[in-house]
Formats: sequence, structure tokens, C-alpha cells
Amino acid sequence: MSKKLLLEKAHVEGIRYYDVYRREGGYRSVEKALKTMGPEAIVEEVKKSGLRGRGGAGFPAGMKWSFIAKPEGVPRHLVCNADESEPGTFKDRYLMEFIPHLLIEGLIVSSFALGSNDTYIYIRGEYAWIVDILEQAIEEAKQNGFLGKNILGTGFDCNIHVQRGAGAYICGEETALIESLEGKRGNPRIKPPFPAVQGLWMRPTVVNNVETLAAVVPIINMGGEEYAKIGVGRSTGTKLISACGNINKPGVYEIDMTISVEEFIYSDEYCGGIPNGKKLKACIPGGSSVPILPANLLLKTAKGKTRYMNYESLGDGGFATGTMMGSGGFIVLDEDQCVVRHTLSLARFYRHESCGQCSPCREGTGWMEKILKNIEYGHGKLSDIDLLWDIQRKIEGNTICPLGDAAAWPVAAAIRHFRDEFEWHVLHPEEAQKRNYGLAHY
Ligand code: NAD
Ligand code: SF4
Repeated sequence: MSKKLLLEKAHVEGIRYYDVYRREGGYRSVEKALKTMGPEAIVEEVKKSGLRGRGGAGFPAGMKWSFIAKPEGVPRHLVCNADESEPGTFKDRYLMEFIPHLLIEGLIVSSFALGSNDTYIYIRGEYAWIVDILEQAIEEAKQNGFLGKNILGTGFDCNIHVQRGAGAYICGEETALIESLEGKRGNPRIKPPFPAVQGLWMRPTVVNNVETLAAVVPIINMGGEEYAKIGVGRSTGTKLISACGNINKPGVYEIDMTISVEEFIYSDEYCGGIPNGKKLKACIPGGSSVPILPANLLLKTAKGKTRYMNYESLGDGGFATGTMMGSGGFIVLDEDQCVVRHTLSLARFYRHESCGQCSPCREGTGWMEKILKNIEYGHGKLSDIDLLWDIQRKIEGNTICPLGDAAAWPVAAAIRHFRDEFEWHVLHPEEAQKRNYGLAHY
């Protein structure tokens, strides 16, 4: 059974409220960090822990913190990215809804470490009910001396502000998020400069995901070295996985990154297998932006090694035969699912969410959607498959922000691993059209 560091207390009755959370040991890390450790020591512990960003990129959190610029007299900010919108990803929602004080506790310690007196939570607009939960937790923390002026008599002041997004996926990209927080249209900025140097109102800013910031609590409580002993290799600590699709037990699971993909899918402790005895066809293990893998490459690598639920093992083989941990949005497809239709659905999403600033993304996502639609509905040509391949290659690496890559990779992986399925649609147009009868609104 995986060790639980974040969700261990998530089902204690009333844990959403301060009194219960505190009784269960909550806010100890704030006392320890603010009273006995300096900001540098906290950054050191996070570095030692090996914690990697849990939003999707997996960038080392301690390293990001150590990059923050400290110009004299310029305020610094911490921003919590709670704009969780990656299709298949709903782990942050769970954490914020069931154990909100864990995030607030992590935010206070992290704000102290980074010198942020005004810290922001930018939350997906559709998570409206969670805004109320967070605001109540913030108010309770304030009333109990953990937020506001002179926290615990240490002289450190900190306020946390919650800002709702307005429904744009692109605002989860950190620089678009910053633009949106500033009251502008959420267009991504060119990096560098990274937000750690010029972020919110051009001030040094660290943007971290909800789960990353919550993980700071166990790191401070147990020490970075102990935290790093959990997991394997550079995949330290625990990871939240939101599992969905064709599985018996969809939900959010905390894993310690040593379990195999096979155990995760079939064990009763996690996904509980595939309904109705169907066969596993494919899986997107890290949210819609990461490459899809067929069952044979998902359970074992191309070299026949068991594949595990961690950054290194999922990435084994690169994009030719591997994939990515990403945000932990684990989407399972059984033998009845159509990869072409699935890829069309993702292409439509990325076309809709492109901010339109750069041509390869703005135009390319639209073209990919149109070509995929033709193929799926039995109007495609064999040459369309190569055209699709060509377009995705022209998008990848040629855009301002990672949305371009995120749109290209699923198409590339689908063609790489399921080309025969694309060809079937072209070679059997009447069957493809019949299959889609009634779905012309797509
Ligand atoms: P990135 O690799 O560009 O950056 C990772 C982080 O490291 C950023 O905060 C960046 O500022 C920082 N960084 C990198 N190099 C730096 C340097 N030299 N100096 C200072 N800071 C530096 O990736 P990203 O754009 O943050 O994230 C992309 C990922 O987000 C994708 O992999 C995708 O899976 C994921 N994603 C997640 C969601 C979700 O809902 N959770 C939604 C969309 C995308
Ligand atoms: Fe906008 Fe797409 Fe360019 Fe990102 S890649 S800046 S979403 S057009």
C-alpha cells in the first residue's frame, strides 16, 4: 500500500474546518518553519526533498525557488496555480475540496520562504464552490494567527487572495495566468524572462501548482531527506493521480511512485481493472497533453522492463516508445474505444483553447481538427495521415507556449502507434460513416 502524505487525513470528518485540521496536527509546519527555520533553510529542505513540480512539467521546485530574484525594495510574490483544466486531471480539485487547510498551510510556509507578503491562488472559474471553501479556510487561518499581520509573533505578514479564472484553459500557463491576474487578456508571454525574474507586475514571482505547495507541508514536518527516501530515483515523495476512463474505480489516488502501471490499473486498491472484462487498449497516463501509449508499451517498455508509475519509467523510450508523467491525469481506453475519435476530441479542445497569438498553433490546431474530422467521418484520404503528421511536426517547438506542443504530441503518438486505425477509417468510409450516425454535431 502506498504511503499517504497528502490525503491521509482527507476523510477525517470535519477536516475541512480549522479546529479538526489543527487537532489532527495541522499547521505544525508553519510553527516549525517560521519559528525555527529561516527562509534559506526552508528552500534547502525543499531542494533536498527532490520535489518536482506537480502541475505537469516536473521542474525541480527547490531549484525554481532558488532562482527567484531579490532586487532591493521590490516585492516578491507566490502564485498558486489552481487553474486545473488539463483534460483528465482533477487531483487539485480533490485536494482543495476535501483538505483545503493543507494547501493554505503549504502556502504560508512557501510564502515565508520566498518573501511573499501577498500570495495569490488563481483558481479555475468552474471550481466556484471551492472558492468558498478556500476563502473560509483562509479566514479561519487568519482568525487563529496563521495569516495576516505578524504571524505567530515572528514579524512576518502574509495575506492570501483568491482570484477566479473565467474559463480559459490557456490561463493555466503560468505567464498567461499572470497576465490574467493583472487584469489583462490571458496571452502567454515569451520566456525568458521567467516569472522568477519578472512575473506578476514585473516583480519576481514563483508560480507553483496546488499539489506542489501542499507537499511542502510533509517536507518541512519530516525533513527533505526523509521525504526523498519515499519513491524512487528522481521521482521522490508521493504523487496524486486522477484516474478516469474505462476503469472500475475512477477517482483520485495518492501513490508513492514505486508501483507498476499494471498494478495501478488492475489492483483493487487503485483502478480495480477494466469493466466487463474488456481488454486494455491504450492509456494517456499524464493528462491529455502527453503521448498516448498502446497496452503493450504501457505495461512494459520496448526493452521488456516493467513500467512504473513515475517520471523516469513512464518516460523510458522517449516519445518513440514512451510517454510522460505529466499532471497525473490517467485516462484508460478499453478495446472498444476509437483512437481516431479520441484524437479528434483532443484536437477540437486545443483548437478551441488556442489563444491565437502564434500562427503554427492558431492555424495548425484548426487544420488538424478538420483533417481528423474528415478521417473520422469517412471522408479522408490516405495522404491525409501524412499531412497530419507534417502539420503536427511544424507546430512542435515553434510556438510561444507549450499549448502548441500539447496539441501536436497526442496527434503524433496516435499516428505512430495506431496508424492502422486511421487507415481503416479511410479504407472503410461507409462503415466509418455508419459508426458515426447521429454524431454529426461533432
Ligand atoms: P516549463 O517546462 O516551461 O516550466 C516549468 C517551470 O519551471 C516554470 O514555472 C518555469 O518558469 C520554470 N523554469 C524553467 N526554466 C527556468 C529557468 N531557467 N529559470 C527560472 N525558472 C525556470 O513548463 P510549463 O509551461 O510550466 O508547464 C507545462 C506543463 O504543464 C505541461 O507538461 C502540461 O502537462 C502541464 N499542464 C498542466 C495543466 C493542469 O491542469 N495541471 C494544464 C495545462 C498544462
Ligand atoms: Fe497562444 Fe497557442 Fe501560441 Fe500558446 S502556442 S501562445 S496558446 S497561439
